[in-house]
Amino acid sequence: MTASSASAILPGATLGILGGGQLGAMFAMAARRMGYRVEAISDVSDCPAAIHCDRLHVGAYTDTALLARVAADCAVVTFEFENIPAEAGRALAAAVPVRPSPDVLFTTQDRAREKTFLTRHGFACAPYRIVQSLAELQRAVADLGLPGVLKTAAFGYDGKGQIKLLAPADVEPAWGVLGAGVDGPRQLVLEGFVDFDCEISVVAARGSDGAVAAFPPSRNAHANHILDVSSVPAGLPAAVLDEATATAGRILEALGVVGVACVEFFVTKDGRVLVNEIAPRTHNSGHLTIEACDTSQFEQQVRAVCGLPLGSTRLRAPAAMANLLGDCWNAAADGSRHEPDWAAALAVPGVWLHLYGKREPRVGRKMGHLTALAATVDEAIEKVTIARRRACRG
Ligand code: AMP
Repeated sequence: MTASSASAILPGATLGILGGGQLGAMFAMAARRMGYRVEAISDVSDCPAAIHCDRLHVGAYTDTALLARVAADCAVVTFEFENIPAEAGRALAAAVPVRPSPDVLFTTQDRAREKTFLTRHGFACAPYRIVQSLAELQRAVADLGLPGVLKTAAFGYDGKGQIKLLAPADVEPAWGVLGAGVDGPRQLVLEGFVDFDCEISVVAARGSDGAVAAFPPSRNAHANHILDVSSVPAGLPAAVLDEATATAGRILEALGVVGVACVEFFVTKDGRVLVNEIAPRTHNSGHLTIEACDTSQFEQQVRAVCGLPLGSTRLRAPAAMANLLGDCWNAAADGSRHEPDWAAALAVPGVWLHLYGKREPRVGRKMGHLTALAATVDEAIEKVTIARRRACRG
């Protein structure tokens, strides 16, 4: 027995996951393939993870009796989204290892705390100010200038809770929408607008022994603030990619992550790499690792939280991933709903379909994704977009 396998959580053990969305479902699939049992906690019973885990606990993340049951069953608990009350993470961590730790969750679930962490550790990000009142916002606008992006500190995702400020006249209405909460003023972060060349992200894992393994950076194109297409290789100079990869590794170290995290970056037109945000979990931009890399981000999460050696992150072939939003079900000109044409999408060679089993295809809701592998990244992007267009008949 090696030193690391003595303390590792081995197949046969039960792994817990907070959250039952698609990231939890794909984690459960990877873990069960490796011989683990999986228990998930979700606030809804028909979540994507429901059919992929051994046991689904339906309830609130603040239900201490439920957390105690999960802690009793599981050898380790991880999570698939960050909007979990920090107290719930701490209550669990008193009874079972929680990886990454609730402290990592606490720092990254709030933009103000995350920015403060980045600045304190010398990681470059967009200029920002944390504000709590209209007067502070006005001072921040005077300091940073416009355009800027105003964001809620807590509970924002996919561009929700954000307003772009173009002119001084936008400031007061934006404060009214985001800052003036019914229960008192909310904390906001004003960021200087970054006129970026492109956005990239690095999904990386860190083991309990401190070993770090990063997947190749992915180039991310967004539509309406939601990830649209990710592709690898990102097609940027090696110095830029190396800097992003090294920065991601240093961030995982500084945070003390044991598990998987994703660091999103803006690449400026003059080649600077600025951290946008950190997600302490697997990420949409890492879905293509399932087909494109030696180890998927989900298997890597299992390995990292179980104290197993991290897997190879080698890219097997250029790849692209396109999200399938609920819009795809509603793509007809008359607004009527129809099932996308999956057969037409799968007629494109080298394309894989992932559907998350969500029943209600709402506009902007992530229902699934397509991945394509090809000889070049441009070809992979072309294939995946053709496949999606055929599926969505749009
Ligand atoms: P976020 O939720 O902070 O990742 O923002 C969603 C998207 O909005 C990002 O992926 C960018 O495309 C855009 N965005 C956010 N912040 C900025 C910024 N400071 N400058 C320019 N674009 C931004």
